[in-house]
Amino acid sequence: MTDEFTNEIYYDDDADVSHIEDKTVAVLGYGSQGHAHALNLQDSGVDVVVGLREGSSSREAASEEGLEVTNPVDAASRGDIVKMLVPDTVQPTVYEQIRDELDAGDTLQFAHGFNIHYGQIEPPEDVDVTMVAPKSPGHLVRRNYEKGEGTPGLLAIYQDATGEAKEEGLAYAKAIGCTRAGTIQTTFREETETDLFGEQAVLCGGVTDLVKAGFETLVDAGYSPEMAYFECLNELKLIVDLMYEGGHMEMWNSVSDTAEYGGLTRGEEVIDREGMEEILEGVQNGEFAREWISENQAHRPAYKQYRQAEQDHQIEEVGARLRDLFAWGEEQE
Ligand code: NAD
Ligand code: MG
Repeated sequence: MTDEFTNEIYYDDDADVSHIEDKTVAVLGYGSQGHAHALNLQDSGVDVVVGLREGSSSREAASEEGLEVTNPVDAASRGDIVKMLVPDTVQPTVYEQIRDELDAGDTLQFAHGFNIHYGQIEPPEDVDVTMVAPKSPGHLVRRNYEKGEGTPGLLAIYQDATGEAKEEGLAYAKAIGCTRAGTIQTTFREETETDLFGEQAVLCGGVTDLVKAGFETLVDAGYSPEMAYFECLNELKLIVDLMYEGGHMEMWNSVSDTAEYGGLTRGEEVIDREGMEEILEGVQNGEFAREWISENQAHRPAYKQYRQAEQDHQIEEVGARLRDLFAWGEEQE
């Protein structure tokens, strides 16, 4: 079965937690991913120390879970594996603080390849540089683990100084529950570029613009904003759930023949393939990365404007009103 895929997929039987049982993992950051990794590692019997800034509001939460908390520099100095789980935009700064704590043979590990791939972090040659990344937000990584279930994950090796990067990475993946579900081997480049492209063109950018354009088209033509909201935003979840469960055919089989014929013949009209290719090019040639890095250096002026415009869009106000009027919001969580 796995032979049919380009990338190797690993399961629990391919991984052995004993490769990290006598190591200390320094988890830097205790947000979405950080809390899930730290707690799952701890429950898998791995020695964990959490690195957080003095005064970080997460310190108490981590301590309450029985985790040892210290500052990032101390954590990194004790860690054999240093896991970077602070926000991607903060990682280069935190790396500058902890770089001297990386000894030969240590591992610097990521959950996203941006800073390595675009050269924002340049680790020394004598450490392993790997990625173990759940393909899911942290609260699900934790919840699935506690239920005895897994979360699909990615493994990538950027630098293998010890010759043991892969078995160590697989051990880590097993300890956080990722080989229960399956862990796909990839590269930093592939993970970073597909991740950025996906979030820009399809998942976050594409889908919100599709929804807004549909909503505006109906409202501008005189239809009620409430109907436009239900049609273009609310029902999207029902459609995506079907696609998630059984692919496009499950969705097509579940909607009416009229919806299927209309969708199959008209959908392509709203897609701009050249625009998509330009987005991919901007990711591949580093243009997007440079723009986002300088936007951060300038304290995010454009980001704040885009965010405000999104906040002010009519669809937000209509949605907030409708979610209050109809009881569907919470039961679906
Ligand atoms: P997050 O924003 O949820 O958490 C970041 C943590 O870092 C917080 O605990 C915060 O207090 C801490 N922090 C912030 N600034 C800091 C500083 N200067 N020094 C020390 N600590 C600081 O981040 P996240 O979403 O968990 O992302 C962490 C990594 O995981 C990123 O590389 C991200 O790309 C990757 N990732 C995230 C997801 C996801 O769904 N959230 C999925 C896969 C991979
Ligand atoms: Mg992502």
